[in-house]
Amino acid sequence: MGHSKDLATNNITRNNFSEKTSTLGHKALRLEEDLIFELDSPGITGVDFPNFRSKKDKLGTLKRRTKIGLPGLSEPEVIRHFTRLSQKNYAIDTGIYPLGSCTMKHNPRLNEKLARLKGFSNLHPLQPIETVQGALELIDETANWLKKLTGMPAIAMSPAAGAHGELCGMMAIRSALDARDGPDSYRRRVLVPESAHGTNPATAVVCGFKVDSIPANSSGRVDVLSFKEKLGDDVAAVMLTNPNTCGLFESDILEISRLIHECGGFFYCDGANFNAIVGRVRPGDLGVDCMHINLHKTFSTPHGGGGPGAGPVVFSEALASFVPRPWVVSRENGFSIIENDEDKGDLSPIGRMKAFHGQMGMFIRTYAYLLSHGGDGLFQASGDAVLNANYIMAELCDYLSPSYDGPCMHECLFDDRFLDGTGLTTLDFSKAMIDEGYHPMTMYFPLIVHGAMLIEPTETESKKSLDDFITVMRQLAIDAKSGENNRFLRAPEFTPRRRLDETKAARQPVLRWKEKGNAQIKASQQ
Ligand SMILES: *Cc1c(COP(=O)(O)O)cnc(C)c1O
Repeated sequence: MGHSKDLATNNITRNNFSEKTSTLGHKALRLEEDLIFELDSPGITGVDFPNFRSKKDKLGTLKRRTKIGLPGLSEPEVIRHFTRLSQKNYAIDTGIYPLGSCTMKHNPRLNEKLARLKGFSNLHPLQPIETVQGALELIDETANWLKKLTGMPAIAMSPAAGAHGELCGMMAIRSALDARDGPDSYRRRVLVPESAHGTNPATAVVCGFKVDSIPANSSGRVDVLSFKEKLGDDVAAVMLTNPNTCGLFESDILEISRLIHECGGFFYCDGANFNAIVGRVRPGDLGVDCMHINLHKTFSTPHGGGGPGAGPVVFSEALASFVPRPWVVSRENGFSIIENDEDKGDLSPIGRMKAFHGQMGMFIRTYAYLLSHGGDGLFQASGDAVLNANYIMAELCDYLSPSYDGPCMHECLFDDRFLDGTGLTTLDFSKAMIDEGYHPMTMYFPLIVHGAMLIEPTETESKKSLDDFITVMRQLAIDAKSGENNRFLRAPEFTPRRRLDETKAARQPVLRWKEKGNAQIKASQQ
């Protein structure tokens, strides 16, 4: 990464740099890139067809009257365009990606290699069952590992992400309540801590529940007294993340679990932070009724880009009969898939969450990760993730402002009190990190502290990588406190674009290129 420690000299270069422009707007070998539509040379294509023998046109009134609207480019132009775009990405393969809560860990290449084995990569979900026995065995084995690691008896492998897993789990809870109390059950209130990820309340509402927020206590954990006060016979469930989004283990979790069950509700656990405890704590032992597992977080599969997500959900005995179809069963004559209502026996699956059987490519990568680590390796991975976060916490706590006292789990939470009186915000600080070659941490989440900075290094960062990060964060904190506001307010200066109007981009996204709107798009990028 090679960060210059001589930041004073850096400042001078930075200012000169931003004033200098090249003839075509390129910055050294980092080239400006137009939209592909702007690169259009009408009539140019990447392929030559022989002249078509003239045939009578059968399209009639369906014949296209307008131009097709695809840009004309040669093959080398297309390759350069997309390669240059790909190089504008920041990725876990280019540097540390310290996003708290989202766990951006290295994606081992062994996983990738195995997912590309022809027997796996050429599978089709509609192949006859006798020809996919190995694939079904892999799904079954992965499911068994996940059940064992969580201490839970049942699993749905098909959900496509954490949020989709939450939907699956809360649908199962809704069905269990309706089965127990009748469809008019008035258990419709779901308790959600105020530090929860936004997907938790969103899921509850989508499933027809009302959200009731539980406050945190001064140590960043669920306030058990307030939780007790909120309990009642209209409570359907609690949705709890453990470790929570402040990076703290919910130390009263057994008490919370006992109380919610006593009151007749279910315990949904958001398992996004399972990577901090995998191999050490089994959520089933904590009384959890269902929990999603983000394979792209704990089990190192790629986030987006490299493939779709996967968020299997594990269930307790109380919810096991509501697990959605399909599931794999192992019989004497081999593996088969239960997909149809007539095969469900006396179970009451909530239906199915998606077409086919889940994200096979992600199951292969997860299985590779499980086998290559083994139980002892997973134990070490969660330990190292916690160690790395505590190292950062210890090295930065005198420079930034830690939100809570004491050690953290796999991520450390700071707020913006250290910026008090400087006129700078968490956003300014993060933009300056970009100039230093760092993707910012998670900002302004969780919502319960002001100007949150949530840092999760993961176990896959080396000591050198952590030390470089710490050096930069310390220097930025020193500069912020000593009034060097310009380096923050002008940041980022080294990026192809400076500060964008992110609110406008979210509220009024320009998703389609229009010839006339073109000038406008360009103007708004300046
Ligand atoms: C990432 C995350 C989710 C959502 O998971 P996706 O896989 O992104 O859908 C939910 N809760 C928490 C705490 C998370 O960090």
